[in-house]
Formats: sequence, structure tokens, C-alpha cells
Amino acid sequence: MDDNCLFCKIIKGEIPSTKVYEDELVYAFNDINPAAPIHILVIPKKHIDCLANISDEDEKYIWAIHKAINKIATMQGFIEKGYRLIVNCGKDSGQEVMHLHYHILAGEKFGDKIV
Ligand code: AMP
Ligand code: ZN
Repeated sequence: MDDNCLFCKIIKGEIPSTKVYEDELVYAFNDINPAAPIHILVIPKKHIDCLANISDEDEKYIWAIHKAINKIATMQGFIEKGYRLIVNCGKDSGQEVMHLHYHILAGEKFGDKIV
């Protein structure tokens, strides 16, 4: 954990968040500034700054994130209708919080297709 990282503080409960899902390796919560009717952030319970810097040791976290995403989609009822994932990585992507996070965007007509 990184004492100066916003998302590490959220995992530790030092900053409040609306929890959507949690297990041993993953924490998920609602984005504070939603870009879609459903906008959830899924993060590893390990400080990894961005996807470019994952290592073999992080494999279990990446797998756990993907499993968690489908559990959340099932729990929240959008597994059939679908969802979009966004992972910003680095300066040119606009990544603001340097703790790896997957954005789940879902809900009807949540925006123009960008990819
Ligand atoms: P990114 O631009 O990919 O780094 O995304 C960072 C995301 O974190 C943005 O969508 C923000 O709205 C979201 N965010 C920032 N602070 C908080 C917070 N305290 N609780 C929930 N989401 C947050
Ligand atoms: Zn962190």
C-alpha cells in the first residue's frame, strides 16, 4: 500500500466510498463522477501504479479483477445487456489516479462509441 495514494486510502477505509464488491484481492466501488448510468471502479488490493507496470507476481490480481467484473455484472443485472471496460494507463491516456483501476461502464445509452 502507498500512504499517499487515494485508492489505497479507499481500500483502507480512510476515505469513504460506496462499496459494490470486495474479496481478498479486489475492491470495487462507485465512481464519484459517473460517466454512465452504472460506473464502477475495480481495483487490486495492492498498489500497482498502472497496467504498464504489472509483473508476474500480479497475475492473481489481474485474474481476480476480471472474475470480479463478471460477478458484479451478474449481481447488478447487466451481464446479459453488456458493459464496457476502460483502463487508462499513463499520461497520454489521461490517467489521474496512479493505482491500477478498471472502469466498468454500463446502463442504457451510456455514450457514443469511442472504440
Ligand atoms: P482515471 O482518469 O482513469 O485515473 O480515473 C480516475 C477516476 O476516479 C475518475 O473517474 C474519478 O471520477 C474517480 N474518482 C476520483 N476520486 C474518487 C473517489 N474519492 N471516489 C470514487 N471515485 C473517485
Ligand atoms: Zn494505491
